[in-house]
Amino acid sequence: MTESGRTAVLTGAASRRGIGRALADRLAGEGWAIAVLDIDGDEARSAAAEIGAAHDVPALGLGVDVSDQAAVDAAIAEVEAGLPPIVALANVAGIASPVPFMNETVEGWDRVFAVNMRGTFIVTQRVMRGMIERRRGRVVSLSSVSAQRGGGTYSKVAYSASKAAIIGFTRALAREVGEYGITVNAVAPGPVDTDIMGGMLTDERKAAMSADTLIGRVGTREEVAALIAFLLGDDAGWITAATYDINGGLQIS
Ligand code: NAD
Repeated sequence: MTESGRTAVLTGAASRRGIGRALADRLAGEGWAIAVLDIDGDEARSAAAEIGAAHDVPALGLGVDVSDQAAVDAAIAEVEAGLPPIVALANVAGIASPVPFMNETVEGWDRVFAVNMRGTFIVTQRVMRGMIERRRGRVVSLSSVSAQRGGGTYSKVAYSASKAAIIGFTRALAREVGEYGITVNAVAPGPVDTDIMGGMLTDERKAAMSADTLIGRVGTREEVAALIAFLLGDDAGWITAATYDINGGLQIS
């Protein structure tokens, strides 16, 4: 199969300053066909158009809420009909919640889990059918250092718990699909300056977060994208059920 004969499905890859978009750009540069599934349909379509044209690869952008099973079903059917076989999936879509425990609501809790965890379940299950049939596939889902450290200024109980759930999901799924040669991993980044923090990452907070790391700075979206791309690629065939830290050493500080 040629490089352009395989598709990577990326959820949450529309945001211009986001990790998913950097990943889409990187994979397209390696010759992958790209499907961007994002709740922001306009940005998903323009991301696909820009990235597809820049790298001369097939690319499709679709407006999808990953927590909506019918919408995901229809979107993946469209990808399967229009692009080469889906070989890789990155579950990048996510939302944060800065709400402290005593102020968190059931509605807020449910929405964070609906996007971060249920969405990951729905998209992965739908894409997995084809991967099992072809006995080929790579799945990477975004956890967070918040799962290990118990959150931080902008990520509290709901977010941290949802990102810890991703690790259990990853390990259990890896156990089930390993026999088909399919790998399933998680990536747990530390702070990266994207829109997920809703503009709350002031220069002062960024300096404080940087000082907490061993390397002395927050990460870049390209650095996280590079790790995900490696785990989705041909050289990562013996890595599964793993969670990779990428946080400048924050996990031990
Ligand atoms: P971002 O806000 O730039 O990107 C998130 C993307 O998800 C956006 O394009 C958004 O439109 C999309 N999205 C939101 N809800 C959706 C839904 N219901 N359905 C489909 N798409 C939806 O943020 P980011 O920092 O690039 O985050 C990417 C992932 O990395 C998230 O899962 C996040 O939790 C994780 N992460 C980020 C950081 C960080 O510091 N930025 C740290 C650890 C983990």
